[in-house]
Amino acid sequence: MKMVFLGPPGAGKGTQAVRVSERYGIPQISTGAMLREAMAAGTELGKAAKSIVDAGGLVPDDIVIGIVRERLARPDCKRGFILDGFPRTVPQAEALGGFASLDLAVNITSGEDVIVERIAGRRMCRKCGDALHVKTLKGAAQCPRCGGEIYQRTDDNEETVRNRLKVYNEQTKPLIDFYSRKGILVNIDGDREIDGIFKDVVAVIEAKGR
Ligand code: AMP
Repeated sequence: MKMVFLGPPGAGKGTQAVRVSERYGIPQISTGAMLREAMAAGTELGKAAKSIVDAGGLVPDDIVIGIVRERLARPDCKRGFILDGFPRTVPQAEALGGFASLDLAVNITSGEDVIVERIAGRRMCRKCGDALHVKTLKGAAQCPRCGGEIYQRTDDNEETVRNRLKVYNEQTKPLIDFYSRKGILVNIDGDREIDGIFKDVVAVIEAKGR
């Protein structure tokens, strides 16, 4: 199954993508995670991306398209993949259509108040890439799933979130129409417990015949 996860920042795309990846044994490909890795390693890409990511803007299309094109050419993507955070603009979606044929676009919906609260309290696991919330972590410094180190993303603050939401509304939201017109869009309510959302995501995948 070749799929993309759409939805505003903090809707739970990454959380669901990690779980789908584990369940079906197909890679989760997060452009945000790849950019954060490049930033942490101080590569040319990382240096170029840092100020844009930290301000909640979008890295230029040609850069992310190149990263994804290369990643999807690797053998582990043959059976399927989950794109998380890509495409984020119509030109990215059009470019993707030139080198991959998608089976499914899952749009996880969420209200803005829920998003801001989730992102302000969000922490990430460096090892498994899962997102956690300070409320459930209760001060723990390690990931409850895999024991990895917990950190806070530099762009997870209220000010940047507002900008990321604006960018989402202007540039990414049109993709809902884009994939709806292609007949592969499914909407899932993201303002619920993780397990309930995952159940629906799995049902949609199974209905598509994986
Ligand atoms: P994410 O982890 O998906 O929330 O992405 C974090 C940040 O990385 C975004 O706010 C953007 O600055 C950048 N980014 C990730 N994916 C893309 C993309 N497909 N196009 C442009 N910028 C991206």
